[in-house]
Amino acid sequence: MIYIVVPCYNEEAVLEETTRQLAAVIKNLVRPARILYVDDGSRDNTWNLIQRLSEEYGLVRGVRLAHNVGHQQALWAGMEHVAAEAEAIVSIDADLQDDVDVIGRMVMDYTEGADVVYGVRADRSSDSFFKKWTAQAFYGLMKALGSETVYNHADFRLLSQRALAALLAHQERNLYLRGMVPLLGFNVRMEYYNRKERQAGESKYPLSKMLSLAVDGVTSFSVKPLRLIFILGVVFILIALGVIIWALAEHVRGNTIQGWTSLLVSLWFVGGTFLLALGVTGEYIGKIYKEVKHRPHYFVMDEVGK
Ligand code: UDP
Ligand code: MG
Repeated sequence: MIYIVVPCYNEEAVLEETTRQLAAVIKNLVRPARILYVDDGSRDNTWNLIQRLSEEYGLVRGVRLAHNVGHQQALWAGMEHVAAEAEAIVSIDADLQDDVDVIGRMVMDYTEGADVVYGVRADRSSDSFFKKWTAQAFYGLMKALGSETVYNHADFRLLSQRALAALLAHQERNLYLRGMVPLLGFNVRMEYYNRKERQAGESKYPLSKMLSLAVDGVTSFSVKPLRLIFILGVVFILIALGVIIWALAEHVRGNTIQGWTSLLVSLWFVGGTFLLALGVTGEYIGKIYKEVKHRPHYFVMDEVGK
């Protein structure tokens, strides 16, 4: 059974249509499939609707979380919920912005041996200028910080059973799935599609949630910001050396007033030393941070000769 996992937060306006479209897609799949709705602590009628839809369509399952935990955690909950029974899962948002017809292509890729199929947006013309620009800046930043994110891929993807098991073996609590999935490896494919407008209801990702996802993305995947402090410290010490030479020269030439030289020199030197010390501490904190995540060391993909 393939499970289509859909996190839903206050999605009463769109779920009916989503179910209709997903059911139509499932009919044409080459493998049997069901839908799992994860109600992420909605405060509207979402859960009642899921219950009703489940009676109406035999292929709808639902799980209701006790509290709003956010998109990433809700998706994780859904994946964990079906991991034992699913030969593969497809995660997709409830709002039909991602092209549901791509699911058919993803499942074909899966039957041909793909473990991870990324849904990648071919264009962003349906997004506002602001969203497009911030997203692009963010992907650029992540790349500069050394995290392997897939450009223009959000959380629309297929994972085979073994890729899902590998993902769920991660023990970290700060989830940034877009950054974690590329760590898995296995056989990877991309499927391109045009992202549409939200079908109904409004975005559940206000700027504040977008920012916190971005901060999670950076701080869960990179300790480079800590290293930056160290580099800054080195730069400051170097400037301090220059300042010392210059200030002493001015002092000797008698161009200065009393106390200027000693103040200036200690200002730069002490500042640089502080930054350097912070940076060294940061290096250790970065190491501790990596350790406490208990990330799995490797995943076996194939074996011969047993
Ligand atoms: N979502 C969720 N919990 C939240 C916020 C969002 O489960 O706290 C779900 C939401 O129902 C949708 C998906 O995450 O299925 C993506 O949200 P949305 O479409 O509002 O984000 P956008 O496309 O505007 O970035
Ligand atoms: Mg959306």
